[in-house]
Amino acid sequence: MDQPGVVIVGAGHAGFTAAASLRQKGYAGAVTLVTAEDDLPYQRPPLSKGYLAGSIGGQRLAFRPADFYERRRIDLRRGDPAEWIDREAKALILSSGQSLRYDRLVLATGSTPRTAALPGAGLDGVFRLHSRADADALRERLAVAHHLVIVGGGFIGLEIAAHARGQDKDVTVVESTDRLLGRAVSTATSAFFHATHLSWGCRVLLGSPVAGLVGDGTGRVRGVRLQEGSVLHADLVVVGVGARANTELAERSGLSVDNGVVVDAGLRTSDPHVHAIGDCARYPSGGRTVRYECVENAVGQAHAVAEELTTGRPQNYRRIPSFWSDQQDLKLQIAGDSTGHDRAVLQGDPAEGSFAVRCFQGATLVAVESVNRPSDHVSARQQLQPA
Ligand SMILES: Cc1cc2nc3c(=O)[nH]c(=O)nc-3n(C[C@H](O)[C@H](O)[C@H](O)COP(=O)(O)OP(=O)(O)OC[C@H]3O[C@@H](n4cnc5c(N)ncnc54)[C@H](O)[C@@H]3O)c2cc1C
Repeated sequence: MDQPGVVIVGAGHAGFTAAASLRQKGYAGAVTLVTAEDDLPYQRPPLSKGYLAGSIGGQRLAFRPADFYERRRIDLRRGDPAEWIDREAKALILSSGQSLRYDRLVLATGSTPRTAALPGAGLDGVFRLHSRADADALRERLAVAHHLVIVGGGFIGLEIAAHARGQDKDVTVVESTDRLLGRAVSTATSAFFHATHLSWGCRVLLGSPVAGLVGDGTGRVRGVRLQEGSVLHADLVVVGVGARANTELAERSGLSVDNGVVVDAGLRTSDPHVHAIGDCARYPSGGRTVRYECVENAVGQAHAVAEELTTGRPQNYRRIPSFWSDQQDLKLQIAGDSTGHDRAVLQGDPAEGSFAVRCFQGATLVAVESVNRPSDHVSARQQLQPA
């Protein structure tokens, strides 16, 4: 090809948005979108929400129908993972052996659940939730399961717990630390979700590290063994203990990696012809480096890179992260990053299921968590967004 153009690796929220945004902004060169998955590019948030519940079908999960890619001249390569970057030749080598030349390469390789090196993680009936195939398999098994144990009290685990209680399943959430959602929210919001899940009839065990999963002798899971020795009965186990950045391709190709692909404020890796965006990228923000796993971050970074590649104007990515989680009739929205906050101010009444927590570091507002108060979220984003 005369014009190698932009090649994007990964077609999740970051990679898909980068491709679509390039065309929207008028980029005229070739755009190639490479994905390891066979599916049409799709969004992940509904996997633990409407798609798991059956209210959102496969068509709505896909970002766009197949003809979108033809109409926008986006060369979509499915089911062919990228293996290596020949940075000298500026070519991406796919596992099929094909070589794609690029002017600019965008890594949007995302993240993968830590399925924990738990003994017994390979037993039948032990699930994780990251892909559409994971969700299909989980939904099928959940329909016939009676006793669900969720290992990990993070967002994905709690969303599944909320759905399963709605289906009248027996549900236990096991968390190794002393509170739910501990890595993401203030203690007030943790306490609210703990109390709410109890009120829905879910059992919650805090400070309970898991030692392993127990089989029934035929290869099926029958329980979860806690480190203190007891075994929780389960015919279905979901492990949701966080994710790690997919950095293998970058590492193999000699790019700088440190718990994420290291990028500068313009989202450029240690090779100026290669950008990284979304869950896989670690970037400088407020005197430290951060890596976020949320749609807002993936989409914001994709637009920023598309802007630079279309206009040639270097970008300085500074948007605040924001996140949401739907659990039964509750919508939690988070604007900003509460890491390291030293003061939290509660507004409204958690007992009424509608409140906000404003998190401060010294005198500076760093994050606002709101439950069923969408207007608080909108104003918090405006307030927190750097000028
Ligand atoms: C169940 C679930 C629920 C979620 N809910 C929310 C929510 O409510 N709100 C929110 O803000 N965020 C949510 N998230 C997180 C959000 O989905 C991610 O932050 C977002 O998908 C990140 O997009 P990404 O494109 O960076 O990575 P990903 O979506 O992980 O996509 C990366 C893609 O790259 C592919 N890939 C990796 N390596 C290669 C390679 N070498 N070659 C080719 N392809 C490759 C992967 O197969 C994958 O398809 C949720 C995530 C999950 C799993």
